[in-house]
Amino acid sequence: MISADHNKLLATIANSVGTPCYVYSADAILAAWHAYDTAFGDLPHLVCYAVKANSNLSLLKLLADAGAGFDIVSGGELFRVLRAGGDPKKIVFSGVGKTEAEIELALQSGIGAFNCESEGELAVINAVAGRLGLTADFSLRVNPDVNADTHPYISTGLRDHKFGIDISDAPAVYARSRAFRNLRAAGVSCHIGSQILDYSPILEAADKVLTLIEHLKADGHAIRHIDLGGGLGIAYKEGDASPSIATFIADLRERVERAGLTITIEPGRSIVGNAGELLTRVLYLKQSPSKHFVVIDAAMNDLIRPALYKAHHNIRPLKATGGSILADVVGPVCETGDFLARDRELPDVQPGDLLAVESAGAYGFVQASNYNSRPRPVEVLVEGNTWRVVRKRETWEDLIRGEELI
Ligand SMILES: *Cc1c(COP(=O)(O)O)cnc(C)c1O
Repeated sequence: MISADHNKLLATIANSVGTPCYVYSADAILAAWHAYDTAFGDLPHLVCYAVKANSNLSLLKLLADAGAGFDIVSGGELFRVLRAGGDPKKIVFSGVGKTEAEIELALQSGIGAFNCESEGELAVINAVAGRLGLTADFSLRVNPDVNADTHPYISTGLRDHKFGIDISDAPAVYARSRAFRNLRAAGVSCHIGSQILDYSPILEAADKVLTLIEHLKADGHAIRHIDLGGGLGIAYKEGDASPSIATFIADLRERVERAGLTITIEPGRSIVGNAGELLTRVLYLKQSPSKHFVVIDAAMNDLIRPALYKAHHNIRPLKATGGSILADVVGPVCETGDFLARDRELPDVQPGDLLAVESAGAYGFVQASNYNSRPRPVEVLVEGNTWRVVRKRETWEDLIRGEELI
């Protein structure tokens, strides 16, 4: 239950920095990270926060200071992690389309391992490592062909997805990788999707990967780690049966313990998702013959999840009101897809009221754009009873930075 004090703090922040505004809780982020870290106990492990979920420098710094590793998917994310003080040795580099320049930067920075997604990529990493006189540790990202029951856009572990190498082809690819003198097969990785509420497919994938690792070891590969990706879901609405991090990790432990491997996981959403809210103000109430609309000052460019994945975000007024309405909550962007909620039962709100869009810490700001020439929102970090701006609201000048007038 959200306390009145919390709502009051949010209102103070919104009144001071304006809306729309993302607010994150440092305590909630660290609590989720420690839930993962402590659940592993004495099993050798590395919790690599998936930077793409929320890449604000201050959040990365919080996690780096707590001892987190990082899962990155681009050179830009590597740049951020290094700037935030992350330990390069605890970085794993995922993604299907790493460029040569990104690979070179990663090797020069001394990252821990590459999660490779194709033989072509292995060849490029080998060539760049050779040029730099280095040996690169890699894991193949295998596709275990299990179905994570989630939105099709964020399911990644089926045979016809672009991700990874089919698990049945993996032994041959590891065997051929022996020809690459500057590569060392150190692990096997997989990541089957995101917002997974029933994690049994992840356990199924873990079993398949462990079997593969036994084969690889029998073939003489010195496999030392297993990377099971991220993907644990969070509760977006009441009644979502969101899995407990502790139980999930206990189930993984049981499987991995006897294998004598270091385990890496790459959680993103489950660390930051419920640690963030998007604050917005009601601009207008509007009624068409068939519908009520609550027009707010946040839009799909600020939080695209409802438009992109039909995602549900709870929306609550920061001040208790009586009555209720059934309405679409929509932004100012010129698209019918610009809504944060549809046919939603809401307390009676009035123009000027502040609303909190809940569970907006993951895949929120990072997917924000300047569509309709809207500056991206300010970001605020709350630590205990104090708060500070960790990214300024963009200005109109920011909107045209880099553009040339002919
Ligand atoms: C997106 C992604 C993650 C994080 O997924 P969450 O659902 O946010 O936990 C981890 N690993 C890889 C390779 C990813 O692409």
